[in-house]
Amino acid sequence: MPKASGSRERPATLRSLHVMALCVLAVLPLLGTGCKHATAARPARPAARSTPGAWPVSSPNMLTTSRFGEARAPARRHKGIDFSVPLGTPVHATADGVVAFSGAQGAYGELVVLRHASDYETAYAHLQKRLVRETQYVRQGEVVGKAGKSGNATGVHLHYEVRRHGECVNPEPYLPRRQAGAPGPGNPRMGSR
Ligand SMILES: [Zn+2]
Repeated sequence: MPKASGSRERPATLRSLHVMALCVLAVLPLLGTGCKHATAARPARPAARSTPGAWPVSSPNMLTTSRFGEARAPARRHKGIDFSVPLGTPVHATADGVVAFSGAQGAYGELVVLRHASDYETAYAHLQKRLVRETQYVRQGEVVGKAGKSGNATGVHLHYEVRRHGECVNPEPYLPRRQAGAPGPGNPRMGSR
């Protein structure tokens, strides 16, 4: 008899453990869902702000003087896009992010590099003045510097790069399209220099 009750009790204990485990497993996703709902209920910023999606400069007469991929020195291609703008034109962060670099760097001259979500980075080169410090958090649209011609630049312009997973990509698809007749830089006219 003790043997029989013992063998009967064991499955019962196992069963209750099983039920408890199932309860925990059933509750966990609910807790997760609760958290998600709480986050979604907050006034969330548009996701577009955390990845490059704005104009770095806004000047009515600006020209895009060099596009991404243009041939430069042998075996070298243009890693960004150049906007010809007046000296001191404010340069804006194109996405929310953290300042990964702010300093002078060779041909780039005075350079600001921002790190964004989804392994994106943006770079703003040849600045006259840098207005942010490393590790500083910046919002899309915030002024990070003023356009200049520091480093290897023949004239005043902003050299703007978008990097994904450490590779330079064409910034043009990341520039918002202008609405017809709307003020602002819109789609810049292409110039040559
Ligand atoms: Zn350039």
